[in-house]
Amino acid sequence: MNKLLPTSTAGSLPKPLWLAEPEKIWSPWRLEGEELIEGKQDALRVWLQEQQHAGIDIVSDGEQTRQHFVTTFIEHLDGVDFEKRKTVKIRDRYDASVPTVVGAVSRQKPVFVEDAKFLRQQTKQPIKWALPGPMTMIDTLYDAHYKSREELAWEFAVILNQEAKELEAAGVDIIQFDEPSFNVFFDEVNDWGIAALERAMEGLKCETAVHICYGYGIKANTDWKKTLGSEWRQYEEVFPKLQKSNIDIISLECQNSHVPIDLLELIRGKKIMLGAIDVATNIIETPEEVAATLRRALQFVDADKLYPSTNCGMAPLSRAVARGKLNALSAGAEILRRELSA
Ligand SMILES: [Zn+2]
Repeated sequence: MNKLLPTSTAGSLPKPLWLAEPEKIWSPWRLEGEELIEGKQDALRVWLQEQQHAGIDIVSDGEQTRQHFVTTFIEHLDGVDFEKRKTVKIRDRYDASVPTVVGAVSRQKPVFVEDAKFLRQQTKQPIKWALPGPMTMIDTLYDAHYKSREELAWEFAVILNQEAKELEAAGVDIIQFDEPSFNVFFDEVNDWGIAALERAMEGLKCETAVHICYGYGIKANTDWKKTLGSEWRQYEEVFPKLQKSNIDIISLECQNSHVPIDLLELIRGKKIMLGAIDVATNIIETPEEVAATLRRALQFVDADKLYPSTNCGMAPLSRAVARGKLNALSAGAEILRRELSA
């Protein structure tokens, strides 16, 4: 990026109410067949335009073509039975009914490549595309086949790499892997989680990012956050190894968060997509509040490596709130750009 402090979002944006029931995750589609395909593309166009109006520099599809950031990808794979469901504890935090791995997993055809080509046709701006990370995928399934979290993660990494290479060929500039699980299973992250992620990125020439957050603003997550005390030091467990990894960009949650900002020192040298927008509240940040978060981060991140972003996806918010937050992000980054060039 030539521009200083290029803005982007972590991932999802709210669905228009004609496409899916708003302000919830896993919301069922309101259209079907050809109408659904057209509806998803129209929603993608709407959010591309919203991002452009707000002055967002690195744009995305706002995940308008997927129901959920993990499940939709898995639905397209062989080896997973969505009829056979088990209740498991996701991220060691809340019970969810999940599908079962019943055989060898594989990807018969591309999942998001056509959607990425469609977005690429609509804009010349840099585009970012999100995929689930291998560890977060295995954590959203019951495995009756491999019976090894590491082995299944490795299989998913190979599949993700196939998808990522095709997304790159479709013109995606940054491929982001969402790994909220990295904030929970520290031993596994260090033993094989980061290695599996690097396998998913193998051979890519475009930029790569990993998004590690404290989750959507849903009750299970806000309740969990209350148990974490006054200082959230989860990132400290995985940053040293991430700093040595091949990953170009690390996407983090920092707005209204109890993450001590000096933990960023542990990943110095990496590009940081810094969450300066809280997705767990309807209160829209002022540009000054956004600028203050970015300013604090600049003690530990070189200005040319700081990418202002949101804490997480905004799918559960209303469109008006999400729009307001995009505008605040953009205006907050502009305050700091002016300071830096003065
Ligand atoms: Zn997130």
